[in-house]
Amino acid sequence: MNILAIESSCDETAVAVVRDGRTVLADAIASQVDMHTIYGGVVPEIASRKHVEAIVGLADRALAQAGIPKSRIDAVAVTYAPGLIGAVLVGVNFAKSVSYALNVPLIPVHHVRGHIAANYIAHPELEPPFVCLCVSGGNTLIVDVRGYTELELLGATRDDAAGECFDKVARVLGIGYPGGAPMDRLAQGGDDTRYELPRAHVADAPLDLSFSGLKTAVLNLVHNAQQKGETLDLPGLAASFAAAVSDTLVPRTMEAAGRLGYGKVAVAGGVAANSRIRADLESACRASGDKLYLPPLSLCGDNGAMIGCQGYYEYLAGVRAGMDLNAYANRDIGKG
Ligand code: ATP
Ligand code: MG
Ligand code: FE
Repeated sequence: MNILAIESSCDETAVAVVRDGRTVLADAIASQVDMHTIYGGVVPEIASRKHVEAIVGLADRALAQAGIPKSRIDAVAVTYAPGLIGAVLVGVNFAKSVSYALNVPLIPVHHVRGHIAANYIAHPELEPPFVCLCVSGGNTLIVDVRGYTELELLGATRDDAAGECFDKVARVLGIGYPGGAPMDRLAQGGDDTRYELPRAHVADAPLDLSFSGLKTAVLNLVHNAQQKGETLDLPGLAASFAAAVSDTLVPRTMEAAGRLGYGKVAVAGGVAANSRIRADLESACRASGDKLYLPPLSLCGDNGAMIGCQGYYEYLAGVRAGMDLNAYANRDIGKG
């Protein structure tokens, strides 16, 4: 079964063709990062307009890459939540028109379920159940993946997402947008004990997380240093920051894995590219005996293939949408 998959929830427009859930025939992506860099963050209006400009050409490119005609497309899958509402709407409306024109089913896909599914593409042997740490620009969740379409939220950030925190700290340090990857490079060789940074706990919710205190602590540290004319040890700060983020994420993920006892842990989302988090999860899973599944860097950020993969499993579960499908800025991962 060939699925045409569409993703437009943030600042990447992506169209993929995925066969039977796990074989990627084409994955065409247009990033808008250069447009948003000058503003230091994603400007929603610009994002929507750029999606409109890119999406038709990307679909043509994806079909050409896949080497199949439109008539061989059996269904259309699309990210319908969560994300920037105007951006998501572009993909949803394009997907509706393709579904109508080709007379094939329309499958709505939750964006974070898609991030999790990137692991199915990377690891053909991986099947639920497993525990997944989902860390991206807008979401930080610990999820019980009981089945392909049966997911339960175990814990979530109460404030900022981990990726958002990386981006804001990078911005105040003047090292560019999006800041996760340059922060990661800066941290290499830095002393991770150089600065003492907080690790927050949420009272009575051991699997919930919080990053706003950490973000504020770094911002205060930078502003105080600037006021006093002191020079910061930037690699040390980046390494101390990555350690604080990882110390918040990894023990909670392992706590969830221990409670559920599946023996399998996966990571998903843009921040899954972070070298410190990957290394800490590797040693934690070595110690606990859990098998760890990490997506390759190319599948951590937004892409269409992950939507086509999850779309296949949603299709098998009977999930369909009509022409009244709406887009949502927020949506419970458990509800799909
Ligand atoms: P969401 O998936 O929550 O809707 P999004 O789609 O914008 O948000 P992704 O594209 O999955 O998020 O991930 C982007 C985020 O990943 C950015 O915040 C970016 O800084 C972060 N990121 C990318 N590489 C790294 C890295 N090596 N270390 C830390 N963060 C990283
Ligand atoms: Mg992005
Ligand atoms: Fe994403």
